[in-house]
Formats: sequence, structure tokens, C-alpha cells
Amino acid sequence: MSVAYDDVLRWIRTFAAEVEANKEYLTQLDAAIGDGDHGINMQRGMSAVLGKVDAPAGDDIGALLKTVGMTLVSRVGGAGGPLYGTLFLQMGTATSGKGELGPDDWAAALEAAIGGVQARGKAEPGDKTMIDALVPGRDAFKAGIAQGDTFADALRRSAEAAERGMQDTIPLVARKGRASYLGERSVGHQDPGATSAHLLLKTAADTWSEAEQAG
Ligand code: ADP
Ligand code: MG
Repeated sequence: MSVAYDDVLRWIRTFAAEVEANKEYLTQLDAAIGDGDHGINMQRGMSAVLGKVDAPAGDDIGALLKTVGMTLVSRVGGAGGPLYGTLFLQMGTATSGKGELGPDDWAAALEAAIGGVQARGKAEPGDKTMIDALVPGRDAFKAGIAQGDTFADALRRSAEAAERGMQDTIPLVARKGRASYLGERSVGHQDPGATSAHLLLKTAADTWSEAEQAG
């Protein structure tokens, strides 16, 4: 299995739909430890993205992902928008000129995405941010491929690891972003950015394992 341009476009659309469906949930999570705008920020950003990627299909996955990233950087305020913008821009750079992605390309895209988010936001695992979903998601994907999983199985493992990483943010003390202002009072709440990052990897697994079944 490999992932084609149209599959990547379907992933972006599915992620936008999931963000829309979870807008209130993400906002409630952010209301508990932040300023209650994560769902609104992500929904506004992804809806702007849908307007931009509506053009006739291309064949450069990197260019598509860069468009997503630039749209998020320019349209979404706060910390989350620029961080997600950087994530997609770096994924786009890692996949520049490619018309299909195999497992190694996706591993490289995840690597670059996390590198970009960490270069910008300086968060480490355990700081109670989106990094706590993304890093286990990347590691589980790479471990799956290394042990001979199919692309689809490794994507599923990756989404499950991201979900556990998201849940594991609940007992953490926030050390980055607005939630860090709360210190110990951030304990007991799930991080909103880790929650949207889980949706990002889950929608990739859902969208692309269907692609495999369809042949
Ligand atoms: P803001 O905090 O500006 O209101 P959002 O509410 O959209 O922005 O996003 C909040 C999320 O951003 C947090 O839940 C966290 O996951 C993520 N985040 C904040 N700061 C950082 C950082 N330095 N590195 C990685 N992720 C971060
Ligand atoms: Mg916020």
C-alpha cells in the first residue's frame, strides 16, 4: 500500500470534519486549562484550509501539505495555529515533489512535523502538549514498520499510541503554553492540543486503511 495525492486530500478533509465535529469538546478541554478557544481556532483554520484545497487535484503531496500549513499559520492566532501550521509545513517539506507516500515517507513526514513543532515550541514529552500524542504516534508507527507491519496496521498502532499519549496527559502538570500558568492546577485535565493531535493521526489511520481495502 502507498498513499496517493487524493488519499492525502481525503485525510485533510476528514481531519477538518473531525475538528468540526469535536469543536465543542476541544473548546471545553481548553476552557478547563487554557482560554477556551482551541476548538474554535482549529475549526476556523481547517475551514480556511478546505477553501484553499478545493482546486483541481494536483500531484505534489508536499505542495498540498505546505498549502495547509501556510493557511493555518496565516489564519489562526494563539499558539495552536502556528504550531499546527509548522507541523504541516514541515510535513510538506519532507514530502516535497512526491506523488505517493510509502511507510518510510510517512515516518519521515512525522519526524519532520515533530521536529518543526519542537523547534518552534520547545516542548518535550511530558510537558502536557500535542507533543505527548505525536511522539508516541510516531514511535509506534516506526516500531510497527520495523517489525513488519503493513502500512495500514502501523497507522492503526500509531493512532492507538497517540490516544494513550493523549489520555496520559491527564495527570501531567503543564509546562508549556497557557496551561503552564496554572501549574499544579492543570493536573486532572486532558490537554486539548494532544486531543486534536490524536484526531490527526486517527483520521490518517481511518482514511488510509480504507484506501488499502479498496486496493
Ligand atoms: P492558545 O494556547 O494560544 O489559546 P490553542 O488553544 O489553540 O492556543 O492551543 C492550545 C494547545 O497548544 C495546548 O493544548 C497544547 O497542546 C499546545 N501547545 C501550547 N504551547 C505549546 C508548545 N510550546 N509546544 C507544543 N504545543 C503547545
Ligand atoms: Mg486556547
